[in-house]
Amino acid sequence: MIKHIQHPIFKLITEAANELNVDAYVIGGFVRDIILERPCKDIDVVAIGSGIDLAKAVAKKIGKNTKVIVFKNFGTAMLVYQDFEIEFVGARKESYDRGSRKPIVEDGTLEDDQNRRDFTINALAISLNKNSFGKLLDPFGGIKDIENKILRTPLEPDITYSDDPLRMMRAIRFATQLNFTIDAASLASITKNKNRIDIVSKERIIVELNKIILSPTPSIGFKILFDTELLEIIFPALDNLKGVEIINGQGHKDNFYHTIEVLDNICPNTDNLWLRWAAIMHDIAKPATKRFEKGHGWTFHGHEDKGARMVPKIFKGLKLPLDHKMKYVQKLVRLHLRPIALAKDVVSDSAIRRLLFDAGEDIDDLMTLCNADITSKNAVKVKRYKANFTLVKEKLKEIEEKDNIRNWQPPISGEIIMETFNLKPCREIGTIKDAIREAILDGDIENTYDAAHQLMLSKGKELGLAK
Ligand code: ATP
Repeated sequence: MIKHIQHPIFKLITEAANELNVDAYVIGGFVRDIILERPCKDIDVVAIGSGIDLAKAVAKKIGKNTKVIVFKNFGTAMLVYQDFEIEFVGARKESYDRGSRKPIVEDGTLEDDQNRRDFTINALAISLNKNSFGKLLDPFGGIKDIENKILRTPLEPDITYSDDPLRMMRAIRFATQLNFTIDAASLASITKNKNRIDIVSKERIIVELNKIILSPTPSIGFKILFDTELLEIIFPALDNLKGVEIINGQGHKDNFYHTIEVLDNICPNTDNLWLRWAAIMHDIAKPATKRFEKGHGWTFHGHEDKGARMVPKIFKGLKLPLDHKMKYVQKLVRLHLRPIALAKDVVSDSAIRRLLFDAGEDIDDLMTLCNADITSKNAVKVKRYKANFTLVKEKLKEIEEKDNIRNWQPPISGEIIMETFNLKPCREIGTIKDAIREAILDGDIENTYDAAHQLMLSKGKELGLAK
């Protein structure tokens, strides 16, 4: 282990701890990550004594006016050294009350502190003490669990999860990020304790869910969320996509598996959390719009509009932002069928122009989403779709270069209309503006000021406006 703690900061902590006569250990995620060879810039140090005093002593040794930020209520202190953030805490023993995930905390031993950790792989500690510097303390077989890629709790899983049910989300998050298996006893315990998630704040749940979504293969986490029945509690609209209904021998695809497949598909092409959210939401209204039409089979007419309308309530319930990020997700959900529809027909310039106008600067993200949405098991179909899709992309590029419709504003503004006809704000202005925009998008008039001006005058006349 010594090779992992060669950085001068560890020597400084050792010296400071020695002078204060306390034992100190580096513990938790940092130790896990060095063994997994993942980059980690957060170091947690546990002192068998006061973490705050140790932090202050270390800061003094670093010199250069190093600041210590003290969180008195938590008994912790933090300092930044080079690009490391180092948090110091006194070893603690925790006991829990059923109604809250906030423990009653007492001073404890290193062992007590390791017992309160969530997983064996997060309970590893490395000694920073003079006489045992670099010694690994692994009371629960965390190293073996890392080798076997398994998540286990140090104590009985029922105790660990019931004490702090956020750990259920953390288990699923680590399983997804690290591609680890959750040990069978843990998995059963998560299902058993699923309702305990109610005492965890929505804000904390969404932090973990977003980490799952930002992992390389988010479907791993969503499958576990579904199987443990946590999904039903934390995100019922997504859970509701599961299942296949069969009428007259005709079934539709399982929209839950389809959705998480689309999400996985999009991951190599984007780190944008909100584009990944758009993948999650794109078919969210399928259950609400599902119909079986005789002679036709299953249809989901209007699921893109209804889905877009469902976004605000779902985002609000999950404590996701309700600002431009939500609007972006809504827009992609609303438009997600459009490029596919274009790929099926003979593509007219005006249809392409209209899509460019409606999608604006998000056109590339929309195309990324639609490409990920092609998940048919039928290889011939996929090949045909992708080929048509390439055509649409080429056409988009061509029209964009010609007409510059992305981020385009029609050449006649509301102000010009008001001035020309001497109007106060009124409905007619919108009517004229719409007519100009539609005529340009349809290719009926040219995208120039003169052509638009001409149309404004004739429309004004039609509406009985005096110039
Ligand atoms: P990441 O940095 O990827 O979010 P992490 O586990 O490294 O994950 P923290 O969430 O800051 O980082 O946690 C640091 C350590 O604190 C963990 O490794 C674990 O030992 C402990 N820990 C954190 N949250 C809990 C919890 N809810 N229950 C028990 N132990 C926890």
